[in-house]
Amino acid sequence: MDQKRRKILQLGLAAASAAAPVSALADSQPDAAKSPSGAAAAANPDHVGVLYDTTLCIGCRECEAACNRRNNLPRTPVPFSDREVFRTPRRPSDTAFTVVNQYQGSPSTDQAAVPYTYCKVQCMHCLYPSCVSACIVGALTKAADGSVVYNATICLGCRYCQVACPFEVPAYEFNEPLKPRVRKCEFCTDREKGTGANPACAAACPTEALVFGRRADLLATAKERIASRPARYLNHVYGEFEVGGTSWLYLVGRPVAELGLLPLPTQAPPARTEAIQHGIFRYGLLPTAFYGVLAGVMWLNHRRRPDDEPGIGEVSDEASGGQAARDEEVPR
Ligand code: SF4
Ligand code: SF4
Ligand code: SF4
Repeated sequence: MDQKRRKILQLGLAAASAAAPVSALADSQPDAAKSPSGAAAAANPDHVGVLYDTTLCIGCRECEAACNRRNNLPRTPVPFSDREVFRTPRRPSDTAFTVVNQYQGSPSTDQAAVPYTYCKVQCMHCLYPSCVSACIVGALTKAADGSVVYNATICLGCRYCQVACPFEVPAYEFNEPLKPRVRKCEFCTDREKGTGANPACAAACPTEALVFGRRADLLATAKERIASRPARYLNHVYGEFEVGGTSWLYLVGRPVAELGLLPLPTQAPPARTEAIQHGIFRYGLLPTAFYGVLAGVMWLNHRRRPDDEPGIGEVSDEASGGQAARDEEVPR
């Protein structure tokens, strides 16, 4: 019986150690990217961003067209000058990494003659990205300049990133049968050439509603604009604190909820989820516990079986005796 117990325990431990690399992978991500308490990510002065002033956006969709070209996305069925698309609010997709939506009403109180407000949506390049935190193989990472980039070659297709993103951004290529990818704005980073963020949408914007630069500088600019034009702007830079802060910052003249932007808490989701996840997975505790329970169930099953019944990989005394007798009968 002792031998049986050892075999079962070995089986459980072997299975647990096979599962352990998954938790090890979760721990292999760069600290600044994965840890909501890693102040390096937030304090990094080299992180870039975009300041998007919704009160300057005219809904021309030049940013969408530039994004489509830069990322070699499929041709759209209608030209980008078509304003019929504004009939229904849109979300970023696997074929459109950014979209502009139109909302009834003027962008701010000092623009009463302007009938609509426009709002552009894309990946916010969070300072503490939930998608990076959720990805167990490190297919999503935060680059040195703050861009959140994706590596399709190691992606498992589990789509945890989709579920984790508080802005509901990552899209999946459901129509791609062979090697579907997660698609989202990568800040126009060219990882093959090793270049950093270089947003085509900001370069294409004719009204400078989109301004690319260092996040710290953009934040200072946003606050200057708010201070100098209180009738134009609400005293709120969307992205300064939401979910721990984002690289894209929005200046608004009306409540964000009216512009399809989700009112979000200031705490980064990974601060909560990683504390639980790392506690459970550290040293492979969860898989070890799981396979330990499995081993226990198997051991109990073996105990219940009558002693004369053969175990896994064993033969009964009767059977082995019979075989020995037959062996003796065979002339050598
Ligand atoms: S907006 Fe979503 S996809 Fe983009 S970095 Fe943040 S969590 Fe990741
Ligand atoms: S930064 Fe690049 S990928 Fe992202 S929305 Fe702008 S053009 Fe598209
Ligand atoms: S290009 Fe600029 S003005 Fe035109 S829709 Fe995009 S953000 Fe707005």
